[in-house]
Amino acid sequence: MERETMCIQAGYSPKNGESRMIPIIQSTTFKYDTSEDMGKLFDLEASGYFYTRLQNPTNDMVAAKLAALEGGTAGMLTSSGQAANFFSVFNIATCGDHIVSASTIYGGTFNLFNVTMRKMGIEFTFVDPDCSDEELEKAFRPNTKAVFGETIANPALVVFDIERFAKAAHAHGVPLIVDNTFATPINCRPIEWGADIVTHSTTKYLDGHDATVGGAIIDGGKFDWMAHADKFPGLTTPDASYHGITYAEKFGLGGAFITKCTAQLMRDFGSIQAPMNAFLLNLGIESLAVRVPRHCENAQKVAGYLSGHDKVAWVTYPGLPGDKYYERAKKYMPNGTCGVISFGLKGGRSAAEAFMKKLKVAMIATHVADAHTCILHPANSTHRQLTDEELIAGGVGPDLIRLSVGIENVNDIIADIEQALA
Ligand SMILES: *Cc1c(COP(=O)(O)O)cnc(C)c1O
Repeated sequence: MERETMCIQAGYSPKNGESRMIPIIQSTTFKYDTSEDMGKLFDLEASGYFYTRLQNPTNDMVAAKLAALEGGTAGMLTSSGQAANFFSVFNIATCGDHIVSASTIYGGTFNLFNVTMRKMGIEFTFVDPDCSDEELEKAFRPNTKAVFGETIANPALVVFDIERFAKAAHAHGVPLIVDNTFATPINCRPIEWGADIVTHSTTKYLDGHDATVGGAIIDGGKFDWMAHADKFPGLTTPDASYHGITYAEKFGLGGAFITKCTAQLMRDFGSIQAPMNAFLLNLGIESLAVRVPRHCENAQKVAGYLSGHDKVAWVTYPGLPGDKYYERAKKYMPNGTCGVISFGLKGGRSAAEAFMKKLKVAMIATHVADAHTCILHPANSTHRQLTDEELIAGGVGPDLIRLSVGIENVNDIIADIEQALA
């Protein structure tokens, strides 16, 4: 199937007389005829459902659709993008381990890694995604367990050189995890470029309508845990909490990562997505292949308009010829990048504030990547505790405006910007 068809049909094929739409299995528990039947599930000897804290059929249908779209072998939904990124790393790294991550990642992920996971004893080295080969090489340690980056960084809009980082990760016997939230599998499939695990904040384009917070993890099924058995004991040695099964042996390349993540992390942390939310997410994904190109087309026109305006100091958009990441974006995302643009006005911070007050179509919201055009001034909201110097050091200058271009008529979006600039 092509991606447009998968968006509609993958993950669920109704049998004779069954519902055309995926069913919402809004149930905490599942009934069995005998205790033996249920025992097999608890031993991971049979697949099935027993408690929605770990797994739910509605969620699994949507996860299977996403796995198909990303070209992976298995997938799971989580309650948020934060939970997806946490699980993707914690599934293979524990106290005493180390991760190499791109420095230009989403602020929430940066905090998760740099503050909370450090408290758990996991060390992180953050590298400039455009660093030299020597610098990248120096970041690895004997206890490094994974490399992490975002296809298009939020909000820096840096395009990640997936192939290069995959090669470096594999040379050190560890997987590459890529957060593909901004590109979506419509514009880029990181697994095709060497990534091993893909994560999503489904809150963004996948849902696409500002309706549900959620996340997803997809396994590419290519990373050979057994070939690096000493690095990944959680996957390659017996799990005492499941009568000594070894995930990499029992579930193979395609299934070990997601099975372990479900059986251990979802069991213990319970960051499950509600089945109702999974249903809404699925509705969003059905139109993903239609919405994403429109987001890109609109953003391209808005970025072009802004870059030609005499009150605009600078525009960052990887689809704009001359952008630092234009060529790399053409390689990884030939059909378009995303709908998010950042720009600054010549009047700086105060001009940004005045401009945003006048907008009528673009709404001020702490959100990106959905149908509604929305706009945010980080220096005045998400990053307002930082000084101007700290803002500049973090790559989010005091004048930076983040504009997430929606799928309204682009003439209305541009007219709105024009009147507010005036
Ligand atoms: C929003 C976002 C997240 C966090 O996702 P939530 O669903 O808000 O928890 C992670 N990564 C990226 C790239 C994001 O944009």
